[in-house]
Amino acid sequence: NEKQNLIIVSNRLPLSVKRVDGSFQSSLSSGGLVTSLAGLTKSTQFQWFGWPGLEVRDLGDREEVSQTLEAHNAIPIFLDSTLAHEHYNGFSNRILWPILHYQSGVTFDDTPWQAYKRVNELFADAIVDSAESGTLIWIHDYHLMLLPELLRHRLTQQGKSCAIGFSLHTPFPAGDFWRNLPVRKHLIEGLLSSDLIGFHTDEYKQNFIETCASLLNARTEIPNQIQYKNRLVCTNKFIVGIDPQKFTDTLQMPEVQDRIRTLKERYKGVKVIVGVDRLDHIKGLTQKLSGFDAFLDDHPELQNKVVLIQVAVPSREDVKEYQDLERDLCTMAGKINGKHGTPLLYMHRSVPFAELTALYSVADVCLLTSTRDGMNLVAFEYVACQKERHGVLVLSEFAGASSFMSQGSISFHPANKTEMSEAIFDAISLDPAQRKSKYEYLRDFVNENTRWDSICDGKLSATNTRSAKWGQDFTEKLSQRCKRPDKPC
Ligand code: UDP
Repeated sequence: NEKQNLIIVSNRLPLSVKRVDGSFQSSLSSGGLVTSLAGLTKSTQFQWFGWPGLEVRDLGDREEVSQTLEAHNAIPIFLDSTLAHEHYNGFSNRILWPILHYQSGVTFDDTPWQAYKRVNELFADAIVDSAESGTLIWIHDYHLMLLPELLRHRLTQQGKSCAIGFSLHTPFPAGDFWRNLPVRKHLIEGLLSSDLIGFHTDEYKQNFIETCASLLNARTEIPNQIQYKNRLVCTNKFIVGIDPQKFTDTLQMPEVQDRIRTLKERYKGVKVIVGVDRLDHIKGLTQKLSGFDAFLDDHPELQNKVVLIQVAVPSREDVKEYQDLERDLCTMAGKINGKHGTPLLYMHRSVPFAELTALYSVADVCLLTSTRDGMNLVAFEYVACQKERHGVLVLSEFAGASSFMSQGSISFHPANKTEMSEAIFDAISLDPAQRKSKYEYLRDFVNENTRWDSICDGKLSATNTRSAKWGQDFTEKLSQRCKRPDKPC
C-alpha cells in the first residue's frame, strides 16, 4: 500500500514562524485558504513548500527554522525581504490582483515583474530536488503563475515525470481585460505547463480557455481541454467549501452561547445586518456603505430599527491603495453615523473565531457586496451559523459564490445603490416560510461542498476522515493525469 507523494506549494506557508528569545518557534496560522488544504487522505504523504513569512539571513538560523517546520511537513523557501516585498506587494498584489479582479488604471512596472520571475525561479529550484517521478505537485494561486513552466523545465532536465496541478483562487477575467497586462502571454504560458488547472467557477474557467485560444492559438475545441505545444492541459471547476461542523461545534460552546445571549439582548427589536470582509477594494466596502446610506434614506421609518455590524479585517497594510481605502471608509462611516443616528458599527480589526460565529448567528441578514471575488467563503460561513434563525444572504452577483447560491439568496449589482437598498429591504421583509426555503437550499449546498480544515494533531497531515471534497477531487484528478498524461480530460 504505497503512499502517494504530494507536494503542495503556496506563496506563504500556512504557519507563522517567530523568533522567541533567540530561537525560533512555529505555529499553524488559523483561517485563510491555505490552512484549509490540510485535509487530505491518509494515503497521502505530503510536504508543503512556501515562504515562511520572515527574513532569515544567517545560515544557522535558517537551519533552525527548517527544523521547527519539519515537524509540520513544511519546507521553507527563504527570500530576502526586498525581493519578497517586490514579488508579493509590488507585482502580485498591486498589478496582478487588480487585473484578475477587473480593476482598471493599473500601471505596469518592470522591477516588480523581475522580482516576480525571480521568486518563481527560486521556488522551482527549491522544489525540483524533492520531487520524484510520480510525485503530484499542487501549486496554489496567482503569486506562482510562472512556476508550472519553470518547474517542468527543471524536472525534465532531471528526467523526472510528475503531474503538476494549479489552482487559481481568484477570478480569471474575460480575455480582452487580461490583455491589459503587458506580460499577459508569459503568465498564461507559465500555467500551460500544468496537467490540470482548477478554477472556482465555470465562468473563470471559460475565460481562461478563451484567452489561451485567442492569445496563444492553443487548440480548445474539446470542452475543458487545452492543447498547446504537444501538451494536453485539463481544466475544471472545483467548488471550495468550508467545514460547517466546525461552526456548529463552536456555536455550542458555553461562552459563545453567552455571547449570543448578550448580543440578542443588546439588539432586541433591531434587525442586525452583518458584513465580514477583508479590507480590500474587491469587497465593495465603499459601495456597501453608500448602499446602506441609501437604504436608510429610503426608509426613515426604520431609524433605530436596523444596525449594520461591519468587520473590516486589516489586509495588505503596507500597500498605499489599501491605506487610502481605510481612510475613505472611516470618513464614510462617520458621516453615516452622524446623519442617521449611529446605525453602523464599523470595526477595522480581525475578530476571534468564537466572536465571529456569534456575530453570524445573531444576524438577520448577511450583506456581501464584492465588486469581484474569487468565491467568498464568508457567504458559506454565514449559512453554517443560521440553523435557527434562517437569516437571509444578500449577495453581490459578482462574488464567485453567487454562481452557486443565487437561488437561495438575494442578488444585486453592488454599484447600483437602488438595487442594494431594495435588496436589503426585501431581505428584512421576507416571511418565515420564504426564509426557511432559501436557507434550506443554501444549507444543502454548503453541506455538499465541505472541506475539512481542522488540524487535529497540529501537523499538516490528515487524521480525520471527514470529507474535503474539493481537495480530494483535485488530487484524484491530478493522480489520473499523472498515470495517463495523454488521456483526454
Ligand atoms: N476571517 C478571518 N479573520 C476575521 C474575520 C474573518 O480570518 O477577523 C476569515 C473568514 O472567516 C473567512 C476568511 O477570513 O474564512 C475570508 O475568506 P473569503 O473567501 O470570504 O475572502 P478572502 O479574504 O479570501 O478574499
